[in-house]
Amino acid sequence: MGKRKTTYRTASRTAERQTNVRRAWIIFGTLGLGIASLVLLTTGILTPRPALIEDHPHASAVHGGMLVPVGDDRDHYHVEAVVTRGGIFRLYTFSADAAKVVEVKVQTLTAQFRAAGASGPVLVKLRANPQAGDSAGKTSQFVGRLPWALRGKMLEVKVPELIFGDHRFPVEFELAAKKIAGDMPTHRDDEDRLLRTSGGKYTVEDVQANGNTTAVQKFEKVKPRHDERPGPGDLVCPVTRAKASPKVAWTVGGKRYHFCCPPCVGEFVTLAKELPEEIEEPGAYVEKQ
Ligand SMILES: [Zn+2]
Repeated sequence: MGKRKTTYRTASRTAERQTNVRRAWIIFGTLGLGIASLVLLTTGILTPRPALIEDHPHASAVHGGMLVPVGDDRDHYHVEAVVTRGGIFRLYTFSADAAKVVEVKVQTLTAQFRAAGASGPVLVKLRANPQAGDSAGKTSQFVGRLPWALRGKMLEVKVPELIFGDHRFPVEFELAAKKIAGDMPTHRDDEDRLLRTSGGKYTVEDVQANGNTTAVQKFEKVKPRHDERPGPGDLVCPVTRAKASPKVAWTVGGKRYHFCCPPCVGEFVTLAKELPEEIEEPGAYVEKQ
């Protein structure tokens, strides 16, 4: 009996030792592989490089937009397209290295936006909007405003001519212009920052005149009715052009504007701050005929 027990113990110890040896190998092996990959990565052997000719746009980019290759294999660039609140469309210019900003000469672009199923494109002017640090006469950003009718749609975008260096290149891509306002709740802090701070045409006096609050809070009890067919003389929402509600009023640039719903106030104030030249006098937002 005693002998059998000893044998059992010995066998058990051997198995244990083997397991320990195996474990050590696994640990050292993993460590070794890790170190080897690090060395390879730092020497650039495993680092992915951008291909010279790309046949499809990248999924994401510096500003969270869509990165699109421009040019040919000799002259290779990128643009990043971004749509933000207010329907603000921005185009940033990058070099062959998609993370490196490249300045181009100041120019006005005409972008063609065609919504899926639409017969013809809508033309939108994109003006140069130099970023901080861009040289005189140069820009690395263009900006324009998408009309409401294009929002939330799949868009074919074409800029027939963009001058990089001395050459003109066409830029073409497909873009999903997400619905941002109206039907999507925005975060309360964002709304606060937007409507309770001044900027562009939206002044400190405006913030006070509006009661230092957000439109969503102020008009909590207003039930928005989107009447898409305003009659002649009706006030229309400056954002959607639907019939404006007399209850949803907001002061911007010292003037009273009327909107179809509280989220549209945020859209309009975004424009007042970021693209003030897009804001017209309240009298412009009346249905004609
Ligand atoms: Zn609205």
